[in-house]
Amino acid sequence: MTDARPTVAIDGPASSGKSSVGAAAARELGYRFCDTGLLYRALTGLALKSGIDLSDPVGLVPLVAQVELASDGDGRLSRVMVDGVDVTAEVRGPAVDRSVSEVARVPEVRAALLERQRALAADGGIVMAGRDIGTVVLPDADLKVFLDASAEERARRRAEERGLEPDSSEAARILADLRRRDDLDRNRPVAPLRAAADATVIATDGNTFDQTVAAVVAAIRAAETRRIEATASAPAAAPASAAVPAPAAAPASAVVPISAPPPGPGKGRPKPLGDGRTWFIRATDVFGRIVWRVFARVHLSGFEHLRAIDGPVLIVANHISNADPPLIGSFVTPALDRRIYWLGKQEALDWPVLGALIEHNAVIGIQRGAADVDAFRSAKRVLDERHVLIVFPEGTRSPTGRLQEAKEGTTILALRTGARLVPIGVSGTRDVWPRGQKLPHPIRGRVSLTVGEPFTVSAPGAGAERRAAQVAATTEIMRRIAELLPPEQRGFYADAVARTGAPGGPDGDPVR
Ligand code: C5P
Repeated sequence: MTDARPTVAIDGPASSGKSSVGAAAARELGYRFCDTGLLYRALTGLALKSGIDLSDPVGLVPLVAQVELASDGDGRLSRVMVDGVDVTAEVRGPAVDRSVSEVARVPEVRAALLERQRALAADGGIVMAGRDIGTVVLPDADLKVFLDASAEERARRRAEERGLEPDSSEAARILADLRRRDDLDRNRPVAPLRAAADATVIATDGNTFDQTVAAVVAAIRAAETRRIEATASAPAAAPASAAVPAPAAAPASAVVPISAPPPGPGKGRPKPLGDGRTWFIRATDVFGRIVWRVFARVHLSGFEHLRAIDGPVLIVANHISNADPPLIGSFVTPALDRRIYWLGKQEALDWPVLGALIEHNAVIGIQRGAADVDAFRSAKRVLDERHVLIVFPEGTRSPTGRLQEAKEGTTILALRTGARLVPIGVSGTRDVWPRGQKLPHPIRGRVSLTVGEPFTVSAPGAGAERRAAQVAATTEIMRRIAELLPPEQRGFYADAVARTGAPGGPDGDPVR
């Protein structure tokens, strides 16, 4: 299945940090990661062991079939196997370091590895590191980063990693080897190391590791936004990277992160979406409220803001537990007296019985695959038809319970539709339904649902000015949510709240 998120190429000379930085950025954003240098290294290790001439394609090419990248179990292809044996540590040693560029300059070897690398990236949502990823392997990558640093800086980092004194003879050898490898990689006739014309060059001299990771993460986020915006202005409709939850009484696992796509409108013009609460939604809400009242102490506040809001409404909430959607659905829907649309996994809608319950609770199915784009289209449609939609701007449940940095999809959606935003802060649901547990465990703990004042966002100007306004609008949306949370839950947006001097945390009368 296709992942609608960008394909990211990271190239750069030896020891420029491509692999470690690329892997860290991929981990932070939930992308897959692939270190292509390992393929060349494993092949070289194999050739050295078998005594094959390092420049002989006839001996080298048949070895390619024995080499395979493997996952470290966390979505990163950062291990390499030869005939099923993990040789990752071995091929990172000095013997392979010295010979790998000779093997990598053989055109037949590169050709034999090319399709394999392309196939790995075909589904998107991947950061691929190497020397020629942006120029040859993935010339159409959504983002190309070229990490650069002086040879001295790179040699210094490598010597430090190996615990060597900077002016030792081993450190001098590392510098000489790096220079030699750079020279071979840069001047080979096929796929030489160079930055693609459209690459973002990041010079890392003097940067800390974290600074470079932050720069790469920011570049990937900007590429995600560009992708969403490009699709949003395409004729069909528009996308959404908003995180999307499930329906009132629907099970947690129906919540769509943002990596899945909607059913699509089918043939011809789609039927307009219905408005108002069906008897089924009313019944589910009543049932939901009874369950909540029996099993938890629910504190509601700010519900006066839900009275008489008409037109398109985008409810934005923090997301900490699978219990959030049923909680919000059960209490907010009747207070609003309008149907709330949710985006949910199509596969959940296909479950027997439960799927029908979910669907009847105004959940629009999003199929796994072209996630952001299709989710955005469905979301925009709900608002264009002047209904109420709920999204979780963080995209996924927060692993810590504290607010995480939001994705831009929600902001773009609000800007494009002019919808009124209604912020909601949820706390306490993590105790009712902790992460990693299949079922909720009712403990009569306290859960709070706090509704803030409706507001709208705008992002005037063009180019960089508009972009900055959009970033500010995202912060504004999240700050409004953060203000409704106890200080310890404000996480990434704690400073934004502190700047406005808001006190706080939720308060409210218990609903019995
Ligand atoms: O990235 P790493 O230093 O592990 O790569 C080892 C060698 O593999 C490089 O010096 C280069 O010669 C070769 N390589 C390549 N093309 C890639 C990745 C690595 O030529 N995409």
